[in-house]
Amino acid sequence: MSEISKEYDFKQVEERWAESWDESVYYFDWNSSAPQYIIDTPPPYPTGNFHIGNALNWCYIDFVARYKRMGGYNVMFPQGWDCHGLPTEVKVEEIHGITKNEVPREEFRRLCEELTAQNIAKMRVTMRRLGFSNDWSNEYVTMHPDYYSKTQRSFVQMFNKGMIYREDHPVNWCPRCGTAIAFAEVEYDSRTTTLNYLRFGSPLGDLEIATSRPELLAACVAVAVHPEDEKNKKYIGTEVQVPVFDYSVPVIADEVVDPAFGTGVVMICTFGDKQDVRWWVEHDLPLRQAIDRAGRMTEIAGKFARMKISECKDAIIEEMKSLGTIYKEEPLDQNVGLCWRCKTAIEILSERQWFVKINPGEIIDTSAEIEWVPEHMEIRLKNWTGTMDWDWCISRQRIFATPIPVWYCKKCGEPLVAEEEWLPLDPNLKTPPVSCPKCGSEEFEPETDVLDTWMDSSISALNVTGWLSDHPPRYPAQLRPQGHDIIRTWAFYTILRAKALVGKRPWDSILVNGMVLGEDGHKMSKSLNNFIAPEEVVVKYGADAFRQWAAVGGSPGSDVMFRWKDVISGGRFLQKLWSMYRFSAPHAKRSDDAAPNQVDRWLLFELSQMIEAVTDSMDRFQFDEAFRAIRSFAWDEFADNYIELVKSRLYGPDGPEKRAAQSTIYAAIEALTSLLAPFTPFIAEEIRMNLSGESVHTSSWPTSSGISPQPEGDLIKEVAAAVRRYKSDRGMALNSPLAGIEVYSDLELETTDLSGSTSSPVVVKRGGPEIETRAVEVKPSMKAIGPVFKNQSGEIIRRLKEMDPEEVAQMVAAGKIKVEVEGEVVELGPEAVEIATETLSAGRAVEMIVLAGATVLIRTGS
Ligand SMILES: [Zn+2]
Ligand SMILES: [Zn+2]
Repeated sequence: MSEISKEYDFKQVEERWAESWDESVYYFDWNSSAPQYIIDTPPPYPTGNFHIGNALNWCYIDFVARYKRMGGYNVMFPQGWDCHGLPTEVKVEEIHGITKNEVPREEFRRLCEELTAQNIAKMRVTMRRLGFSNDWSNEYVTMHPDYYSKTQRSFVQMFNKGMIYREDHPVNWCPRCGTAIAFAEVEYDSRTTTLNYLRFGSPLGDLEIATSRPELLAACVAVAVHPEDEKNKKYIGTEVQVPVFDYSVPVIADEVVDPAFGTGVVMICTFGDKQDVRWWVEHDLPLRQAIDRAGRMTEIAGKFARMKISECKDAIIEEMKSLGTIYKEEPLDQNVGLCWRCKTAIEILSERQWFVKINPGEIIDTSAEIEWVPEHMEIRLKNWTGTMDWDWCISRQRIFATPIPVWYCKKCGEPLVAEEEWLPLDPNLKTPPVSCPKCGSEEFEPETDVLDTWMDSSISALNVTGWLSDHPPRYPAQLRPQGHDIIRTWAFYTILRAKALVGKRPWDSILVNGMVLGEDGHKMSKSLNNFIAPEEVVVKYGADAFRQWAAVGGSPGSDVMFRWKDVISGGRFLQKLWSMYRFSAPHAKRSDDAAPNQVDRWLLFELSQMIEAVTDSMDRFQFDEAFRAIRSFAWDEFADNYIELVKSRLYGPDGPEKRAAQSTIYAAIEALTSLLAPFTPFIAEEIRMNLSGESVHTSSWPTSSGISPQPEGDLIKEVAAAVRRYKSDRGMALNSPLAGIEVYSDLELETTDLSGSTSSPVVVKRGGPEIETRAVEVKPSMKAIGPVFKNQSGEIIRRLKEMDPEEVAQMVAAGKIKVEVEGEVVELGPEAVEIATETLSAGRAVEMIVLAGATVLIRTGS
């Protein structure tokens, strides 16, 4: 065996393994009949940075993947990349100093693909360095034709099933991004705005209305009051004049109006908010769209046309103030919907868009078939599903996305949806191979809108389980690991799509991870300066230390704080493991003929118990529990107790006793490396390779040997620990010999290891020891004597010390101490003294340690 360095060199070890591991051992076997465990890994957005939140989630996934693989499952831990989307478009515009409309559509898309490919390459490097056991043979990239043809086919299939339709419908619109967005992409934030009180003209006298959005006056289509509103109900059924624009709108009654808010009268515009949309539908009101796709006022805004929304607002308020139309203003706290990406206030516009039908009941029922970990996360999906007012708007007005495979007949406008066999295609680059089914025309306009990227990623589970592939499909997948921030999007859409396309739940279980917080307890962000990149941690302490932080940082579902101290203690544990291994290496030898003694059997029992506990924790995804159990066994039971107990056998003469200890050490290290393999794959591999010459990552998960409890060995360990404490309390070297140790116990204990580890002769006896205690010293208490006897105290104390300790002890027992001072007898209570005693056994002084199950006598004199 070559020299084993004293210091564990994580850098050298980790880089060597990262470079030399054969990744094909992690490939899923499509032909295997072993039980499958397919993981629907999140496809990250290829920003080029694999951030710490990703890293936490991937550690969890890797713990599960490695554990299941060792447990005999045919595991797939694929890696996908969710490429399409606005951030890349923006980045490309920035890098090349262009706007997307300045170059041909295809060229712009090519630049986006190029940047994405570079970013994916960078992120792969980080993932490999962190030791993730990805199955790269099942990698997918959503911008590649083989993937987006599936996205397109999913569109066509759902269209043919009547689950996708195109309609004029209000949608959430981000004027800055210039695209429709789904409800799931709207964030809400409170803002303080102004509530303006203004007058609408009426023959019954002006009607007073309060609104926070006077810029929408030109979009006003009705005014609503509560039917029971005493003050205003006389207006119901009449018409009032819209100020500034001077046209009339009806006054309608609606129960939803809050008579206590503002003036109790509401202006209905198309559209100020979601409630406006509901009223618009319920009362069948006309459409007046005052804001366009770019966030500017339309022609119906008259002289305000083409102004930005905020400019128009200021101008209208000024005009109404000068006319006296506005008679009061007050501040108003409001919840405003913002674009999740750019934080611009969204507008609701009526647009012709593509929609996916949402069936809330079906989603809730399907979700109930899935095991949610932690359980309480399911309520988030249920709550979200309950708020669905509209269907899912899936068309976007962007470029870098999956094209919608549709054309429109130039003559009659009939839409032509592609056949599945024609896919993949971009309708902007290809004309359909058929003529218009309605009018026979051969001229078409392409659909220029593209698909929401969630249309790509919501078929990830189907894609990894072999849907539309050459393999027989294997859905559902077994596990979806993901963050709680995308339950309403990715989890929701995936359930919807799996049910719609294959009629099944997408996965058996969903494991929800929390967010990573900075050391200051805040969400990590570059601006807060609490941002940590995984690479930084790896350089300083290694991937195995980083992964230990992920394991112990918290249980899945809870937010996890990044703590350097967890990483540092991870590093310390690696060193401890290494030292343990370095000591054990020359001794660890497998042997079949040596019968384990009581101490060996005790360790094997502890090991078995630990394996059962860890296995149970892993099955429940409680990685912190699992890892702590392994660490405490390795550190406390194996290194601090077992090795100390058996050292003398290891260094003693060859024979069955020595071989039993060597074999036990081998078994312990073999099991420990296997159990650690999911958590710290590098050091586990390094030690295991040195031990047996075989990769730990192709080994099996250890199982409990079923050995029964070993009270004898356990007691020996306790006695040895008590003697160690005894020596260290007295400042004695741990290997310094004692005159003799007697252990009294009802158990039949072997003495070899006790004697070896205490460097002292040990005798084990049945029953309890025969001992006597003798008072050896009287210690008077000044605190008790002083206040009572004042000047006499000194003399009393002196006398007490001269007295026979045995005699004083008897008086204490009787409750009264009599002392003769200057011819006079003084009486003291038992609290006046403390009696020091010594323990004797067979007439010789001993120290006695009482343990549960044994009494230990340590002979102090010779
Ligand atoms: Zn935006
Ligand atoms: Zn036609």
